[in-house]
This record gives sequence, structure tokens and C-alpha cells, in this order.
Amino acid sequence: MRRWNGWGNTDIQIKLPPKGLYLLQDLLGEGQIQPDYPLEKLLQRIPDSRLPQHPLISFDPKLRLDHAHGQSLPDWIRLRGGTLERFPDGVAQPATIEEVQEMLQFAADNDIIVIPFGGGTSVVGHLEVPLVQRPVLSLSLQHVNRLIDLEPENLLATFEAGVRGPDLEKQLNSEGYTLGHYPQSFEFSSLGGWVLTRSSGQQSKYYGRIEQLFAGGEILTPQGALQLLPVPASAAGPDLRQLLLGSEGRIGVLTKVIVRISRLPEKDDIHAVFFPSWDEAREGVQELAGSFLPLSMVRLSNPKETMVNLAFAGHERQLRFLGQYLRMRGVPPTQACMCLIGFIGSQRMVRNVRREALSILRRHHSVSVGKSIGKVWKKNRFRSAYLRNTLWDLGYAVDTLETAVTWDKVNSTMAAIEKSIESCMAQWNESVHAFSHLSHVYRSGSSIYTTYVFRLAETPAETLSRWKMLKQAASQAVVGCGGTISHQHGVGVDHKQYLKAEKGPLGISTLQHIFSHLDPDQRMNPNKLLP
Ligand SMILES: Cc1cc2nc3c(=O)[nH]c(=O)nc-3n(C[C@H](O)[C@H](O)[C@H](O)COP(=O)(O)OP(=O)(O)OC[C@H]3O[C@@H](n4cnc5c(N)ncnc54)[C@H](O)[C@@H]3O)c2cc1C
Repeated sequence: MRRWNGWGNTDIQIKLPPKGLYLLQDLLGEGQIQPDYPLEKLLQRIPDSRLPQHPLISFDPKLRLDHAHGQSLPDWIRLRGGTLERFPDGVAQPATIEEVQEMLQFAADNDIIVIPFGGGTSVVGHLEVPLVQRPVLSLSLQHVNRLIDLEPENLLATFEAGVRGPDLEKQLNSEGYTLGHYPQSFEFSSLGGWVLTRSSGQQSKYYGRIEQLFAGGEILTPQGALQLLPVPASAAGPDLRQLLLGSEGRIGVLTKVIVRISRLPEKDDIHAVFFPSWDEAREGVQELAGSFLPLSMVRLSNPKETMVNLAFAGHERQLRFLGQYLRMRGVPPTQACMCLIGFIGSQRMVRNVRREALSILRRHHSVSVGKSIGKVWKKNRFRSAYLRNTLWDLGYAVDTLETAVTWDKVNSTMAAIEKSIESCMAQWNESVHAFSHLSHVYRSGSSIYTTYVFRLAETPAETLSRWKMLKQAASQAVVGCGGTISHQHGVGVDHKQYLKAEKGPLGISTLQHIFSHLDPDQRMNPNKLLP
């Protein structure tokens, strides 16, 4: 069963190893455990619905609660603290594309706001219910999830947009194919959600981000259906797929998605190396990113993140040996930077690419430790998200933010983000531990993914107000350094005030005009994305 106020299924609990807990207590102090607001009380506070009756719409309070939020830290604070105040007036769960169409017509006939709902894993407030006079309908795509067509010859597959990660891969894998898109939220997020938020998967270096995997499909806008042909390339003017990607439910409901698939690879390995310092690590990884080698992943943790990863991993005996080995090879434990590198393809290709890649990294003094850390990482790649539940129960909040910058700005941006979070927290005489990794590397630059952990405050309102200030400080640092406000999570409500700095006034008004053309009544997920 899915947790109503946290991440994932209730039967999965992740324990924090003693060393991890000591580290947190040492860095931040004893956690400030807060009681959870009871579900029953929250359900009683859900107001009466303003929607007219329709056989496809449910008014069930629990369903309305489950569709009132995503998975951002503010969402968690409001759920756990019982301060969530806005709920959709009803939830439609159509089972076919025709029923989606019927719901959109019903919404148009009755002046209803529609929030398309994929897997509900947004971390930037995409699903927040706006404060408006008009009734709000959450339109869940959960049951619109079939494989419509598989075209082996063209390496294309057509799915209904609500299909979620595991179901999509299961159907492709059984025919010998994969999409290869693995965001950490894979278990619950949907294909439509990935497209609408411009998602990036853990192995996007090889398979491509969703922009590269999305070949075409169909979106139902209030002005009619847009059909997007899955041609492999085109010079026929601006690409309408780019308009749809990242539109965050603002222009309609994506119903059919045609994706580019790959044959299942013979080998899919992850190798770990350690560097003796951040500068050597960053230079090594930058050279690797420019090498054109077909890697599936390059993920470089800074020393603070390496320390946390190892402390949270458990396996104390093996880690002691690892520490001794690294010291012997000239890698000081306090400066060590762990880097995971993914290799995919035939046996022969993996062997050759690995040899080349490791030889590049050796020139930057990396120490290779083989595949065992990579195997553990792969096994737990979706499980580490459950640690958020564990940490909250111990009295700590965790949030992440991400950007991408050109290589010349990587060091300064990473330092500015971490510093902005640390200095902002100091005003409450509280500590915060902020650490980062480069999660996706490109020839011209890299994404930076920062995680920060801090103690819960005494009230949900105070935790939320601290989060707002931390988020603002970090977002200003990102914008000030010339980074994008989001590399993969999207804009939603949490990032929209920073979009103007990136797109400029003309860029914003162009998008506004396009959105109003396709959705003249501002029916589709208003108040998101654009300031
Ligand atoms: C623990 C965790 C880890 C994460 N890791 C990653 C990661 O590695 N990479 C990454 O990119 N993101 C990650 N995310 C963020 C999130 O999973 C992505 O943004 C994801 O793409 C959202 O998909 P969803 O199906 O859950 O969409 P939802 O959250 O349901 O919706 C997101 C937006 O898309 C719109 N939408 C959804 N489906 C449709 C549709 N069919 N038609 C029109 N609009 C639609 C919604 O209206 C909303 O605006 C993570 C989130 C969590 C909680």
C-alpha cells in the first residue's frame, strides 16, 4: 500500500546504520521528532465539493487528499503537520482515451479547472491546487496505461501516457527491448509525467533524456488534438514536440506517447573509482564527458557527499578495508570523491569502453575499486528515496535541488549553492549539511545536484518558513551563477519566479501567448510554470 504522507509503499522501511545516525547527530544535533497529524482528522477537514456529478468523478475524501499534492518537501510538511488546505473538488480516473476526452468536454461545459495527474511524484508543486473560484478536477491518467503498438523495425513503441516505469519496462523487456529511462522516482512516475516535466533518468547519458526518447504522440488541448509525427528528424520548421516537452499540464492532456526504444543490452555494469581531491575529480570527469565514449552514467560526488554516502551505506567491515586501501593508494578519506561510471552494450564494447574510460581517469589520479559498489548502488537505486521517510521519523528534513551550468562555472556554482544554504540556516542557530554531486555530464557542462539535511523546527509552520528561505537563497545563488533553475525537476510553483531570469521578458510573453492560444480559458493547470 502507498504511504499517504511519505514516499513509496508502506512495506518498505530503510534503516539508517548507526554510523549514519552518529554522523547526522554530530553535524546537526539530535533530531527534533514531530508527531504526525492523523489521517482521519485531515480527511474531516476536506471541504464539500463544488463539482457537478459525473459517473467518472469520485468525491472520495482520501482520493481527493492523495491528488492534492506531490512529493516536494513543502508537500510533506503540510501533510505530516496537517496544514494542507487545498484539495481538488473531485478526481476522475478515466480508463480510456475516449473517457479522457469526455472529461475534458465536461470540464469545458462546466467551467472546471483541470490538473492532469500522472504518478504524483512532482517535487516542485506541479500538482498544487490553485486558490480559485472555479471548481478543480484532478484528472488521473493512472488507468490509461496500455501498450498500443510496438514497432521493432523502427525501434518505436506507442504507450498510453499514464503507464508507470515498472509496467512500461516489463512490457518492453518481455519483447527484448527497453526504454532505458530511470529517474529515481521510476517506481511511481509515469511516461506522461516524464515528458511534461522534461525528466532525466540515471542512465540518460546513453539512452538520452526524455527529450531524445520522446518521438511523438497525441495531446488533447482545449482547442483540439495535436498529433506529433514520430519522424526521425525534420527540417519542417520549429519542432512542436519541444513545445509540449516541459509544458507541465498547461496546454492539455498528453494521451499517446511514441518513444524510441533500444534492444536490451548484453551488459549493464557500474564501476566505482575514487579521486584524491575534488579538482582532480572534476577535471577527470570533464575530460571523460568530452571523450565521446558511449557511457551510460557518470556521477561524481564531492567529498561531503562521499562521506555521507559511505556512512549511510552500512557494511562497516568492507568500508574499513576500503578506507585502508584508499589511504594506501594516496586518497585521503576526508578529501575522497567517489565517482560511478556506467558501461552498457555488448561484452566487447563494454570491455573496450571501460579500458579507455579508466585510462582517462587514471591520468587524473583515480583509484579504481571495481564493480561491487556499483552493484550495491544499482540494487538500491530506487530504494534510497525511502531514506527520506526514515530521516523524517528521526526528526530531520531532507530536500534536493538541481541545476546545470557550463564547465567553467561548475566549481563556483556548487560552492555558491552550498554556502547560500549554510549561511541562511545560521540565522536560526541551526546547522544544515549540504552536499553535492554532478549527476549528468555533457560536453559543455554538467548538472549539479545538491542535497541538504536539517532538523525539523518545533512547528510545521516554522519548518516551512525555514525551507522557503533556504530555497530562495539557493535559487538566487543558482540564478546569480548563470545556471538553469532546473535541470530535471521542472518549474511548477517553486521555481516559476526565477524563470524570467532564464527566458527573458520576451521569452515569457511568447510562451504566455502560445499557452493562451491553446488554452484560452486558462483551464489547464493554471498558476504553474509561468510567473
Ligand atoms: C524521490 C524522487 C526522486 C526523483 N528523481 C527524479 C529523477 O531522477 N529525474 C527526474 O527527472 N525527476 C525526478 N523526480 C521528479 C519527478 O519524479 C519527475 O518530475 C516526474 O517526471 C514526474 O512524473 P509524474 O508521472 O509523477 O508526474 P506528476 O507529478 O503527476 O505531474 C507532473 C506534471 O506533469 C503534468 N502531467 C503529468 N502527466 C500528464 C499528462 N499525461 N498530460 C498532461 N500533463 C501531465 C502534471 O499536470 C504536472 O504538471 C523525483 C521525484 C521524487 C519524489
